[in-house]
Amino acid sequence: MPINAMNQTDPQLDCALTPYWWDDVDRVTSADLPMPAKVDVAVVGAGYTVLHAALQTARGGRSTIVLDAEEAGWGASTRNGGQISTSIKPSYEQLARRHGTERAFAIVLEGQQSLAWIGEFVRNEGIECDFARVGHFHAAHNVRQYDALAAKIAAQPKGLETDAHMVPRAEQHTELGTDAYFGGAVYEQYSSIHPARYHVGLLKTALAAGALVAARCPVTAIEREGDRFRLRTPRGEILARDVIIATNGYTGRLTPWLQRRVIPIGSYMIATEPLPEGMTARLIPNNRMITDTRKVIYYYRCSPDRRRILFGGRVSYSETDPRISAPKLQAEMVNLFPELRDARISHSWCGFIAYTFDELMHVGKHQGMHYAMGYCGSGVGVSSYFGMRAGQQVLGLKEGRTALDGLAFETRPLYTGKPWFLAPSVWYYRWRDRLPI
Ligand SMILES: Cc1cc2nc3c(=O)[nH]c(=O)nc-3n(C[C@H](O)[C@H](O)[C@H](O)COP(=O)(O)OP(=O)(O)OC[C@H]3O[C@@H](n4cnc5c(N)ncnc54)[C@H](O)[C@@H]3O)c2cc1C
Repeated sequence: MPINAMNQTDPQLDCALTPYWWDDVDRVTSADLPMPAKVDVAVVGAGYTVLHAALQTARGGRSTIVLDAEEAGWGASTRNGGQISTSIKPSYEQLARRHGTERAFAIVLEGQQSLAWIGEFVRNEGIECDFARVGHFHAAHNVRQYDALAAKIAAQPKGLETDAHMVPRAEQHTELGTDAYFGGAVYEQYSSIHPARYHVGLLKTALAAGALVAARCPVTAIEREGDRFRLRTPRGEILARDVIIATNGYTGRLTPWLQRRVIPIGSYMIATEPLPEGMTARLIPNNRMITDTRKVIYYYRCSPDRRRILFGGRVSYSETDPRISAPKLQAEMVNLFPELRDARISHSWCGFIAYTFDELMHVGKHQGMHYAMGYCGSGVGVSSYFGMRAGQQVLGLKEGRTALDGLAFETRPLYTGKPWFLAPSVWYYRWRDRLPI
């Protein structure tokens, strides 16, 4: 399904097929600005990664243009769940086996720093986006997962301890109004944000810093020309000294090398209509961000005004239409919270994340072009943070160095960007998730 076919209301479902978040913001639509013939820096994509990179380069005195094929922020950056964590998927132990203890320590630490940093960033820039350190409840879907979480928290590597504690099943209702889980872990520092308000605030900050933003302007080709790059777009050509590609789950044929390294996966969300007074306080009493330990996870939260539940996950083996995902997600939500059986769904939408073969994000340079992407579905904080670092790398600043520098960005033989293995993988993980232990 072409994703832009979503921008409409479905009369049969009586439900908007656009993100709930879009209702709440005055989206900044950029005028069709005349293309400059030359810039210092051209950044492709206009989500969090690119805007943070552009903010650095514009403030560093480099003429900067942001180019997006759609409206700025049309991608995952205004469609996500607004949950902010430390975002490093592999454990310290897994990373240590692959890359040694020193690098593993640095990677996990940088994930933690990104979480602290984004809070400081929105505060220092005065971005109004409902940022709050509400904490996160990670619910165990079986006993074995509860024990694994407890063991992980008890054995946190020295110097990487986070503020976390276990909540046994008997006390689960202090965190979540359901009996469907087997207890879980609370991570106190994890945060929530209104993704679209954050994006719009960031966009205005980048514009105020002097970055140009060209929306509805796909980059169709990039060619090397001496020590510059020539970017072709339907609105004209631009010569740029530096290029940053941050197209994440929407990476396409423009950059085949990157396309072979990221796995686009659709993630689906619904919002309920405003619920009766007091209901969200019963279901999510501490207003935490929620995920569960399933491999094919569900993630959910209250809306910032605490009137609705926003519920996300994956309910199909292959990509589907938000008309089809809406009733399936609703059924999963009602399974967890029978109290929501009569709640109408007001919005259903989807967006694409970028998974990678080593479950790490990657920031680097290929054939002279910078890139930052591959946040594996957990990118609100780290796309902002590594976008900032990519901008600093373009400026040649030592602060731009990251623990990920120099890591190989893996692909697999015969993989060209179309994940034929997705449906069997989802099927397998869903089967495994259903096992009682
Ligand atoms: C439904 C959903 C829920 C999520 N929930 C969470 C969550 O709760 N917490 C969390 O941490 N993360 C979450 N994520 C992930 C997070 O949103 C992303 O990691 C993050 O927004 C990535 O930002 P980005 O700037 O790298 O990419 P995006 O915001 O996806 O932007 C990429 C842009 O590139 C543009 N583009 C592509 N090709 C071209 C081209 N040739 N020319 C010009 N432009 C081009 C696209 O139009 C797009 O706007 C979720 C994602 C989805 C989809």
